[in-house]
Amino acid sequence: AIAVLGSTNMDLVAYVPKAPRAGETVTGREFRTVPGGKGANQAVAAARLGGEVVMIGAVGADEFGVRLRSALAASGVETAALRTVEGASGTAHITVDDEGANSIVVIPGANGRVTGLEPGDDSRIGAADCLLLQLELPLEAVLAGARAARAHGVRTVLTPAPAQPLPPELLAATDLLVPNEHEAAALTGLTDPHRAAEALLREVPEVVITLGAAGSLYAARGREPLEVPAPRVRAVDTTAAGDTFVGALAVGLGEGRAVPEALRWASVAAALSVQRPGAQSSMPTRAETDAAALA
Ligand code: ADP
Repeated sequence: AIAVLGSTNMDLVAYVPKAPRAGETVTGREFRTVPGGKGANQAVAAARLGGEVVMIGAVGADEFGVRLRSALAASGVETAALRTVEGASGTAHITVDDEGANSIVVIPGANGRVTGLEPGDDSRIGAADCLLLQLELPLEAVLAGARAARAHGVRTVLTPAPAQPLPPELLAATDLLVPNEHEAAALTGLTDPHRAAEALLREVPEVVITLGAAGSLYAARGREPLEVPAPRVRAVDTTAAGDTFVGALAVGLGEGRAVPEALRWASVAAALSVQRPGAQSSMPTRAETDAAALA
């Protein structure tokens, strides 16, 4: 099983010809509310691909919370450990302009009230093969999850997003770190992915740096780095490509695939997701991914 300790947000997306500047009002084309949040996205990606997934986190006591929970359940994610807490659910206020450029305000809401583990979480984490972590919950909660996983010998996979300095204790409890190239550069000050990976290997035993359409780079202590190409596809929306990639990677590893093979399979899943709009709505099923992997 895969445990995810992370964020659940409602994405409030306004499509506009041009984003407003301070003090300006513009008329937009369309508005959509779509379930998101990095934790929930990774959970949904893994569940669609056949993983048994438990989501640990919180939604607010509002209408968004109800919808966020049911979106997870509809994809087959276990939500018993997703608490409903006082106040608003997490929201992301997103403006997408005609060039596809976006500006985003994230209000953590309920996610910000997850400050540690609740009764039962420790055994849920202990029962998993791996724990997926990101940085959209308070750091103390992420640390508590990583510590619990460590204590049970459960593999931890950390997506260091949004980018921020990582406390040494978190790095020490991370088995596999999966930054994108911008996060890798922010963490190391090095823009060359090979050099960034080398630097990160001083902190964690395994690193995958995702490189968008250029694929990904895998590095592990004592091994030659491995470049994994991405399938060539026509991307229409790369939102949550990284989350799909991580969810798929967790499923592949959980099924006992070796890392290179799991990475190739994850690249196929992520490439399918970028060919469709949306975050969770773009994530492929198991059947689609296996078919595309054979093609
Ligand atoms: P993030 O979404 O976190 O910024 P990336 O953009 O690096 O992460 O994408 C994660 C993975 O998704 C990549 O390693 C790659 O496998 C896949 N991917 C992203 N963009 C494309 C693309 N345009 N074509 C094919 N695969 C892609």
